[in-house]
Amino acid sequence: MLKAVTFTSAKTQILLMRMDTLEELNRKGFIDEPINPTLDLFAEIEKLKKEKNAIILAHYYQEPDIQDVADYIGDSLGLSQEAAKTEADIIVFAGVHFMAETAKILSPNKTVLLPDLKAGCSLADSCPPHLFIKFKEKYPNHLVITYVNCTAELKALSDIVCTSTNAVQIVESLPKDQKIIFGPDKNLGAWVAKKTGRDLVLWNGACMVHEIFSREKITKLKQRHPNAEFIAHPECEEAVLQMADYIGSTTGLLKYSSSSDATEFIVATESGIIHQMEKANPHKTFIPAPPNNNCACNDCPYMKRNTLEKLYLCIKNGLPEVNVPAEIINQARIPIERMLEISAKLGL
Ligand code: SF4
Repeated sequence: MLKAVTFTSAKTQILLMRMDTLEELNRKGFIDEPINPTLDLFAEIEKLKKEKNAIILAHYYQEPDIQDVADYIGDSLGLSQEAAKTEADIIVFAGVHFMAETAKILSPNKTVLLPDLKAGCSLADSCPPHLFIKFKEKYPNHLVITYVNCTAELKALSDIVCTSTNAVQIVESLPKDQKIIFGPDKNLGAWVAKKTGRDLVLWNGACMVHEIFSREKITKLKQRHPNAEFIAHPECEEAVLQMADYIGSTTGLLKYSSSSDATEFIVATESGIIHQMEKANPHKTFIPAPPNNNCACNDCPYMKRNTLEKLYLCIKNGLPEVNVPAEIINQARIPIERMLEISAKLGL
């Protein structure tokens, strides 16, 4: 029996193929098509970037190959600043979904692509907007500061967004008697409260990667490397932060590892940052802090969903694309821009 498709026009066939692709995208989250194994993906990606006037923004937690092909590598603050000012037509976001959403909010007229739509975030998932609305209602007269690691919908419910680079300064920029709700990360919130001496109302959310560092295993590692400095991201639990010689955002940790005289570091954050630390300090040694489970690594499973192959197929096909409803863009843009303004004033 002849298939109906035999009689369709070339235009319809392209449309049907596109619909198949979109259906598969929704199911798998990424374009899954064979790649010629002899292709030099680095060179192909460079070629596609020029052809399409595309820019690749990559988070420090991406795999080294992706970091090496990116136009800009940074943490959430740097990536937001870059997304706001780029003149490229297409932003390919090698990171997780909320980051691509932030780029879309800041550059709504640009196409924002994400190599794998299922690159989510346990921290963003830990704060469903409908529950946060009820939480907010319990604390009238409170200003809402949300960590950038949350959904666009949650940002739309906020007064100011922050990152781990500027959270302390943003809280300090507010009048002392201002009541504040801080979400979704309870560990970052507790650290900010301690640093600023403010009494923050915390949402009970956390990041699965930063919550699993083992105090006991870190103690043993420190005994084996007595000269190593222990550096940690403020999303880690209080018990782990208490052991740290330095606490800071991903960029803060990178800078500190270069400026410190120490030559050995135990690093408590997602292990992807170690690639940049080693590049900047080839004579120093970086040891990933051990997690509190049987797994040997502390990789973020969401960040690591992106691969060089998915990135190549994403630029080549112009899919998957991340879109945010116009109403959410209009509301979420205000607290993000407040953060960018405060950061610019503070020179961050
Ligand atoms: S490391 Fe944690 S906060 Fe960052 S994307 Fe992964 S789950 Fe989310």
